[in-house]
Amino acid sequence: MTVYNFSAGPAVLPKPVLEKAQAELVNYQGSEMSVMEMSHRSSLFDNIIKEAEKLLREIMGIPDNYKVLFLQGGASLQFSMIPLNLAVGKKALYVNTGAWAKKAISAAKAIDGVEVEVIASSEDKNFTYVPEITKDMVDQEAAYVHITTNETIGGISYQTIPDVGDVPIVADMSSNILANNYKVEDFGLIYAGAQKNIGPSGLTVVIIREDLLNKEPIFSPMLDFAVQAANDSLYNTPPTYAIYIAKLVFEWIQELGGLQEIVKRDQEKAALLYDAIDASNLFISPVDKNYRSLTNIPFVTGDEELDKKFNQEALAQGFQNLKGHRSVGGMRASLYNAFPKEGVEELVAFMKKFEDENGEK
Ligand SMILES: *Cc1c(COP(=O)(O)O)cnc(C)c1O
Repeated sequence: MTVYNFSAGPAVLPKPVLEKAQAELVNYQGSEMSVMEMSHRSSLFDNIIKEAEKLLREIMGIPDNYKVLFLQGGASLQFSMIPLNLAVGKKALYVNTGAWAKKAISAAKAIDGVEVEVIASSEDKNFTYVPEITKDMVDQEAAYVHITTNETIGGISYQTIPDVGDVPIVADMSSNILANNYKVEDFGLIYAGAQKNIGPSGLTVVIIREDLLNKEPIFSPMLDFAVQAANDSLYNTPPTYAIYIAKLVFEWIQELGGLQEIVKRDQEKAALLYDAIDASNLFISPVDKNYRSLTNIPFVTGDEELDKKFNQEALAQGFQNLKGHRSVGGMRASLYNAFPKEGVEELVAFMKKFEDENGEK
């Protein structure tokens, strides 16, 4: 049986990447060593990390005045590290769009000396849309405006990045990095846990504009962006194998034709599923059409028992990890870059069959 993995993260990786990693697993480029066994200061690994950075810069069009950091601790550590580095003694502005934004807000509130202000929220409609942000809502003295470009659980995303004046935008891009047309220049800092759309868990990518790096050291070198940047992400042992897999993923994206091509494919995949939901008399998308995510697509029947039946039957057909997040229920299809189009086509066919058998809502 073909298995399609709709997991929200850790998520599906490209088959060619896994096969390449397998072929190189025990003997990387004639070294008789696995990448896992190599010193992070060896020239072979140095090539890997430099190449990973170079490829990511090419793919995303990252300007020279931004540093690319390969860190650990997940996006969740960034929830604390960002206010700690950028906002002590200052105001930090947040947009509350759902579960992940909320976590970022509460972590920032816990940092001494950071004044957190939530400038907009979509809680009034259960986080089914992205609130509009205009320049006049933004205190121009603030350290940053934090947004979550894609809410992985709620399934909403920013279609465009707001103009907030000169205040840097800090973005949690964990679940739609490399699946959007945003411009890096529109952000002061971008961060993403790798396990959604880049590679294995354990790696966190941070892209930070150089002027935002601390001039004075903070209490912990590991948590200091400036220290990490000055050491090219090698202040301590980085997650070497995860960086290697990320490099293979970046190569795979380039071979497919780069970001434009991959976003086009993502749009096609998402449209297949949204069109099927919209045409259905059984399935509903809970999200405002203007803010639909390309990468995380929740849907429900409106009947919990029927959702449960759908999830059971889907699982038996090889559609794995389709069950919605426990806080939302229903179903959620995560269609990251590596998710094959055939998997969406088969899911849509299965949904039609299920609808025929289970009647109208
Ligand atoms: C998964 C996710 C996180 C948490 O990531 P970790 O790497 O597990 O800390 C944060 N934000 C968003 C948007 C996510 O999708």
